[in-house]
Amino acid sequence: MTTKQKRVSIHTLGCKLNQVESSAILEQFRSQGYAVVPFGDVSDVVIINTCTVTEQADVECRKLARRVQRENPEAILAVTGCYAQLQPQELASIDGVRGVFGTAEKHTIAAHVETMARLESPLIAVDETHDDMDFIPASYTNDGRTRAFLKLQDGCDYSCSFCTIPKARGGSRSMPFVDIEDRLEQVEEQSYAELVLTGVNLGEYHANTGERFVDVLRLIDARPRPFRVRISSIEPNTVRDSVLEAIAQSSSVCPHLHIPLQSGSATILRNMRRRYTPSSYASLVERIQQRISQCTLGIDVIVGFPGETDELFEETYSFLENIPFTYLHVFTYSERADTPAAVMLDSVPRNVRRARTARLRALSEVRKRAAAVNIMGSNRFVLPETYDDATGMWTGWTEDYHSVNFAAPPGLHKRLYSCTVQHVIDKRGVLGATLIEPPIVTSDIVSLPILHL
Ligand code: SF4
Repeated sequence: MTTKQKRVSIHTLGCKLNQVESSAILEQFRSQGYAVVPFGDVSDVVIINTCTVTEQADVECRKLARRVQRENPEAILAVTGCYAQLQPQELASIDGVRGVFGTAEKHTIAAHVETMARLESPLIAVDETHDDMDFIPASYTNDGRTRAFLKLQDGCDYSCSFCTIPKARGGSRSMPFVDIEDRLEQVEEQSYAELVLTGVNLGEYHANTGERFVDVLRLIDARPRPFRVRISSIEPNTVRDSVLEAIAQSSSVCPHLHIPLQSGSATILRNMRRRYTPSSYASLVERIQQRISQCTLGIDVIVGFPGETDELFEETYSFLENIPFTYLHVFTYSERADTPAAVMLDSVPRNVRRARTARLRALSEVRKRAAAVNIMGSNRFVLPETYDDATGMWTGWTEDYHSVNFAAPPGLHKRLYSCTVQHVIDKRGVLGATLIEPPIVTSDIVSLPILHL
């Protein structure tokens, strides 16, 4: 008699770090003989890897848990991630949840399936976080995705007044520098065309042998380079001149930075306990422009923080109008339990928060489209990610983070293809392009002109 192969599925909310960690969780299930199936398919184990950065993320998680219970009632449902770390009882009380795992226990879910199946009440495996936690490595390089991700750093030692992440993930810790080469070799061996460096506070990478983030960039750049490198979100105060210099001189780092601003008002930044001012942020952007040619800049902004009067919001709006950014990620502020901001006076009415969010999103669309129009007629290296059988079109990303559609046969995975940008498809700035024939495939993205006609 053959035993049916067990199946596992996962849904990931929140940041790129969570995605990488989900991949590491699935790897453990695979090593125990499980087949990974898409979330929503019937499976024996279902995992929700949560986020708690906004109220919306919590709502989404509870909705997903109820959906699993409705559609897949026999499954063992385990919940992990930042929300699970901070509110384990709340999640354990949802019907169908059989296990709640904290951020340090994420990697033990596969080992606890039988216990969860046996117990009458949900298993809660959540230890308190602290400043001295171990670094648990995670990367994905073998689950069929186009881009490889590497978690370099975890946790955060800052104390932004709106943020629960330091509580949920503990203090800052970094991957040992000596381990990075092995991970890079994996990426090379598996022919990935892009590696994304991630962390909660990536710019605070600090190995216990003394190396900093700039040393990681130099290490990557010193290797023969079959892939390009993308830096995920990085705090402005950690983007030192040495980091900019390393990016400017690199032949592999993409000309794309995502640097949270959160507010353009000095008063609000102070109340948020951020470690920079609007003028130091503006000066950073100027230095980026001077050093890194054609750099795409993405910015996070939080609107509706307590005390954000109309006047202070206008400060943010006009600050942003004068910053050459390409796109914004706008977050509507929501009170998070146990944060200093949650008890601050002068809460902003919800409808005002929403209206401000809409205004900034509209500004973002205008900029995205302008940036897209600006590169029409030029060539870019595109990493194809998804293929639409019905239209025969690929969607992928350029080195400077524009989304591009182009017609090509299936089977283009994991390589960079040179395309000519032809037109803007929609108001979000998605571009239509043509593949240059014969295809120019490269691993060296920066030594080739980024903007050539
Ligand atoms: S830098 Fe601030 S916002 Fe970012 S994780 Fe640390 S405390 Fe949270």
